[in-house]
Amino acid sequence: MQKEYDVIVVGAGPGGSTAARFAAMGGAKTLLIEKRQEIGTHVRCGEGLAKGLLDMAEIPVDRNWIACEVDGARIISPGGMKFEVDEAKAGNETGYVIERDLFDRALAKLAGEAGADIKVKTSALGIWKENGKIVGLHLISNGEKHDVRCKIIIGADGYESQVGRWAGIDTTIADSDIMTCVQYRLTNIQIDSKYTEFYAGSCAPGGYIWVFPKNENTANVGIGLGAHIVKHGGEPKEYLDRWIAKQPGMKNAVQLDMVAGGCSINAPLDSVVCDHVMLVGDAARMIDPMTGGGIAHACMSGMQAGKVAADAIKAKDYSKQFFQTYEKAWRGKIEEKLFRNWMATEKVQKLSDETFDKLIGLLAEVGMENISVFNILKAIKDRYPELVKEFEDLL
Ligand SMILES: Cc1cc2nc3c(=O)[nH]c(=O)nc-3n(C[C@H](O)[C@H](O)[C@H](O)COP(=O)(O)OP(=O)(O)OC[C@H]3O[C@@H](n4cnc5c(N)ncnc54)[C@H](O)[C@@H]3O)c2cc1C
Repeated sequence: MQKEYDVIVVGAGPGGSTAARFAAMGGAKTLLIEKRQEIGTHVRCGEGLAKGLLDMAEIPVDRNWIACEVDGARIISPGGMKFEVDEAKAGNETGYVIERDLFDRALAKLAGEAGADIKVKTSALGIWKENGKIVGLHLISNGEKHDVRCKIIIGADGYESQVGRWAGIDTTIADSDIMTCVQYRLTNIQIDSKYTEFYAGSCAPGGYIWVFPKNENTANVGIGLGAHIVKHGGEPKEYLDRWIAKQPGMKNAVQLDMVAGGCSINAPLDSVVCDHVMLVGDAARMIDPMTGGGIAHACMSGMQAGKVAADAIKAKDYSKQFFQTYEKAWRGKIEEKLFRNWMATEKVQKLSDETFDKLIGLLAEVGMENISVFNILKAIKDRYPELVKEFEDLL
């Protein structure tokens, strides 16, 4: 392994591969490391992805990683009220249901083609400092330890990120800002493969159940529950099993896999950079608190961080101050939405089934040009002002 790079990116998920691609495209000598031996394996994801993201992060569409193209999203209340929204207006998680393993590998390939070196089965063990200054990373690659120098570290190491902690960036979040998730891949089920579906209410306290079609009889069926509501580790699975048992179209379901994990649903962090270090994607806690979607934000922030890293190398300035360009870029795109959705999520988590029925029934009735928390609240204000009282500070 080479002993020196301009930029080392830790983690070859969507955020890391995109960061490495844009850093290399900007001329920085870049290394992308991934602790697993195969990029894209054991990914915990519903695999919903907005089409708009692909342009935003300059990702060419490749039919190989598209499992299913959907027309839109359907939100279903406890009493069976349905609100449909077409794909272009549905937000982060609708448009394509992808094959995440192939998608992640395609993004890594783009990074490699742009000139980044990639090492799999290579973990960051810690930040290497000399006289208190960051000079590189301690790595372990195929069981062998190496110290590799670099000027910039991009932490793209996901929800369980260590890079931020090692660098002294505060990425801690409250229990109430964590969603605990379980998901099955089910086949032999009856679904509408033209829609992603979200089920709200007491079937998933503090969260929702999703059904994301992979093809006409297979779907990712998962649940996210507010971590502060969960009483014991097995509870999300119990909720999901109970719900599946009640679905007539799932009575002959065959389970192909199961994944479990957490995701952050917090307000934007105060800072995701320090001297020599930038964080992207889940490591920077950029998941949309309302939808749980994080792929789009990981790619967008990866692109911005990669570009700024390349500029920093040219300017020979790796300071927190220089990285404010990155802070401004990602915040300009998503900060307001993350904050608004975080506030709304806190309130939505407390709604009763009856209120969900009213709200979703109303949305179905009035339709919506553009689905955003703001527009939804405006629509409700006319009909049920007493409900909007709860949300007035968001309007
Ligand atoms: C159950 C569930 C369902 C979800 N469904 C959706 C969905 O439908 N749509 C959506 O948009 N988002 C979804 N998300 C969120 C989405 O999966 C993440 O936001 C996305 O993967 C973030 O990408 P990332 O590159 O930041 O991190 P990750 O994809 O988590 O990538 C991090 C990478 O870093 C590697 N790594 C970690 N530590 C080290 C280390 N020390 N050294 C080297 N490598 C390391 C990991 O192996 C991993 O490959 C879901 C999340 C969960 C938990």
